[in-house]
Amino acid sequence: MKLPNVNRDRMVDLFCKLVSIDSPSKQEAKVADFIEDYLSPLGLKMWRDDAGIKIGGNCGNLHVRVPARGSKAPAVLFSSHMDTVMPGLGIKPRIDGDFIRSDGTTVLGADDKAGVTAILEMLKCVHESDMPHGPIEVIFDVAEEIGLMGAFEVDLAQVQAKYAIVLDGEDMDQIIYKSPSANRMLYEIEGIAAHAGMCPERGISAIEVFAEAVSNMKLGRLDDETTANIGTVEAGRATNIVCDRLVSRAEVRSHSIQKLEAQTQAMTAAIQNAIAKYERVIDGQSRKANLKETIKREFTAMDIPHNSLPYRVVFEAGTFVGLQMKPAAIGGGTNANVYNAKGLPAVVIGCGMRQEHTTNEHLAINDLELAARLCLAILFKNHEASVA
Ligand SMILES: [Zn+2]
Repeated sequence: MKLPNVNRDRMVDLFCKLVSIDSPSKQEAKVADFIEDYLSPLGLKMWRDDAGIKIGGNCGNLHVRVPARGSKAPAVLFSSHMDTVMPGLGIKPRIDGDFIRSDGTTVLGADDKAGVTAILEMLKCVHESDMPHGPIEVIFDVAEEIGLMGAFEVDLAQVQAKYAIVLDGEDMDQIIYKSPSANRMLYEIEGIAAHAGMCPERGISAIEVFAEAVSNMKLGRLDDETTANIGTVEAGRATNIVCDRLVSRAEVRSHSIQKLEAQTQAMTAAIQNAIAKYERVIDGQSRKANLKETIKREFTAMDIPHNSLPYRVVFEAGTFVGLQMKPAAIGGGTNANVYNAKGLPAVVIGCGMRQEHTTNEHLAINDLELAARLCLAILFKNHEASVA
């Protein structure tokens, strides 16, 4: 079996068009329109779900379905997100040998339009060839970069696939099978305001309380599977007021749920201890600062066994296109975390992006091409497994 030929020039052209369309999170409608136009000659079933309405964006997740042809193989879901991070408006892609770069003032948007390009090329190649394949399901999702919001809204009742392949990685020889859980925390500390020069003893500074708390927190890399970070702190109104309000955003990530929860609780406990330490008597009354904390599970850990169907199919597909696939664990969350948590096994594969989320972001064109070939090989191995 020979895979259909991937068209490199067509992919480069398509990628440059896709990144030239602005699509910040929750504003993906123009890219979805473009994808629908691009695919319309193929006569595929396409629809947008209600994720846009639910999250307050201008576009839902775009679903595409290709019926099986000459195969009893199970359906496979391919997924890439349509939104890009800032600075990402007015992207001007430039071809530089075997790479595509931005003009240096914006990201390139290869995260994740390289994935979108590879999936679209796969669909074109399938259409132009007569290769047998099981049902192909595609979800181009929205608002991934602001908390995997589109994927959370995917209704798996609309999905037949037994597993999902998420194109949202860098290197082509990696199967990302493992990533951590994450908690996102919002701390709001109410202190007590007082004139800083006349009567500071009548106030309790939220800044001092939080500084005390942070100095007693373990942060950064805690062990080989857990990290913690205070990301933002906003506080204070004027130099002559004892600060009565502080807001901080923080996160914990861990491959172990127990460690995730323990570290989250330890950070809250550090704040409570600091609040107790700064308790004081004002006007004969015992007063202390107050903490309001909001903890959200941002995503849940995934750890796909190497003998599972998605892992094996991707491994064999990689070998088929000349890649020695290696397992990889990452510290970030992707849509694969969401699909796994919903009960749909998913792994992440690369699509050639490099230094994403920076203005140095660039795309390796050879890898982009290879990503489309790997997707075709996944379809082929998925079919072959059903015949064997
Ligand atoms: Zn991404």
